[in-house]
Parts: sequence; structure tokens; C-alpha cells
Amino acid sequence: MVTSAHRIGLDAVSRAAYEANRLAAVVLPGEATNAFRDALERESKPMAQYVLGQILENADLAVAENRPMCGDTGLPRFYVKVGNEAAIEGGFVGFERECRRAVADITQDLQMRANRVHPLTRQNPGNNVGVFAPSIDYSFEPDADWVELTAVHKGGLFGSDYRMLFPADGIDGIKRFLLDTLSSSARRGLSCPPVVVGVGLGGTKDQAVRFSKEAACLRVIGDSHPDPDVAKLEDELMELANRTGFGVMGVGGDTTALDVNVEIAYTHTGGIPVAVSQFCLAYRRATARIHADGAIEYREDPRWFTPYYRREGIE
Ligand code: SF4
Repeated sequence: MVTSAHRIGLDAVSRAAYEANRLAAVVLPGEATNAFRDALERESKPMAQYVLGQILENADLAVAENRPMCGDTGLPRFYVKVGNEAAIEGGFVGFERECRRAVADITQDLQMRANRVHPLTRQNPGNNVGVFAPSIDYSFEPDADWVELTAVHKGGLFGSDYRMLFPADGIDGIKRFLLDTLSSSARRGLSCPPVVVGVGLGGTKDQAVRFSKEAACLRVIGDSHPDPDVAKLEDELMELANRTGFGVMGVGGDTTALDVNVEIAYTHTGGIPVAVSQFCLAYRRATARIHADGAIEYREDPRWFTPYYRREGIE
């Protein structure tokens, strides 16, 4: 039986949700900084070199002044991984209340732009909280009594799309769709490249879209999918994305994508649902693990795609 001594307190949830959002808004993760530096070293076009230099300088200034790295907040959201043995004071209703409050508080404290509006009336509550906002998605982990929350401030709104392919379309069809999506957004700077591209392949339509976003936002730049066929496709798509030459902010150059991550889900035998999402150059995300004793650890790698999350059969 879980006693109150082993329940995660709401005070710890509140602190973790607030600080994870502050870190996401202000601090560019080390993997992204390194990827921008590598891109700058490789870049052959002067204008793209200049823009990459400005991105790195902006990242340093954001930390020095504790201010958001981009004037556009994107859409704050949470990905929550729950240990199978975890319990929370006030339950998950209390947990979600703290998450919503943290978004409102950090919006005010960091003077983040209030982006969330009613889709018809455009009424703006002024705090990035509203109907179904921020979204909170869950996954679970065996043999753990902690709860982890990853705050993501997702930009690149115009870089997402979905297409239903037939099996005969194959890998060429997937590549065609990626090119169509990148060209409709990158050339006009609508997704603010260089981006991390997430491709969701298979499952149902809603799963493909969901996994494309998670692949864009919750993998680590430079990692590979454990399935060698999927990893090979990631490499091919990455090469293709950068051969477009759209470059940083669409000014033309060698780096359009910092990475391409593909996630798969078993799908209907008659089709290949495919979705593309892009995580813009404001690569904003931070993770907090809240332990049962109230201790909080912050880190950059969300560790979202665990073997349990990607499980394949009946254990
Ligand atoms: S797409 Fe990203 S970098 Fe561009 S304005 Fe939006 S949040 Fe900022």
C-alpha cells in the first residue's frame, strides 16, 4: 500500500513544472548548441553562416538575461512519464492543476508572449492556458516510483502535415511527402529552419501525427532508431532534407535539418499513414524527474522512447 510518506507532494510538482518551463524557454540544450556549431563549421554560404552565428549569440544572451530565446512562445505542452509505482498527493488531477498553473506563472514571470487564443473568437486569456491547453500526454514506465515531466515549447506550427500512402508508394512516396512538406514551409521560413524533423510512420492517422511530433521534440539530436531499417531511412531522409539547399531560415545553405527522426507503429496492411512535424530552431524543451521523497533532477534528454514505450509483443 502507498502511504503518504511515499506520495509525491504537489509542492515538488509545482516547482518542477515551473523550472522545467523556465529552462525550456531560456536554455538551448547542449545537443542543439553542438549541432548549430557543427552546422556553422560545415556551412559554405556566407548568409547562412551569419544567421547560424546569430542563433548561437542569441542563445547565449537568453541565458545571460534569463529571457525567452524567441519572441514567439510557440505552444507550451507537457509530456509526462509515470512510474508504475508512483503516487501523487492529490492524484493526477492535482498534478495537472500544478502544470497548468506553472504555464500561467512562467508566462507572466518571463513575459512570454501569450500565444493561445480561442480558435474562432481569438479571445486571449493572456497566460497560454485555455481549453485543452497546455496539452498533457502520458506514457508509463515499469519498476519506477518517480514521475517525469518534459516541458516543450513547440514552435514551427506551419511545418506539420499528414498524408495517407499506399504500400506500393514505399520509401519513394515517403521521401516525396517529406520534400513536399519541407518545400512548402522552409522556403518561406515558416518553420524557422534548421529544424529537427520528426516522421511518424504507420499506426493510425492520429498516431502517425502524434509520433511525428514526439520524434521531432523528444529524441536526442544524432541518435538513431534501434530498428536498423528505420535507422537507415532516417539517414536517407536526413541527406535528402539537406540536399534541398533551403538552409537556415530559408536563405539557402547546407543545413536545413539538424536531424531526422522516424518513429514507427504497426499499421493496417492496406496503407502507410505518414506525418511530418518540425521542431524549429528554438529547440525548447527540458525534463524534470520528481522522486517520491520530493527531490527533483533536471536534465536535457527526455528519455521518452524507452524500450517499454516502444514494446512490440505480449510480455
Ligand atoms: S518557428 Fe520557432 S524560431 Fe520561428 S518564430 Fe516560431 S518559435 Fe520562434
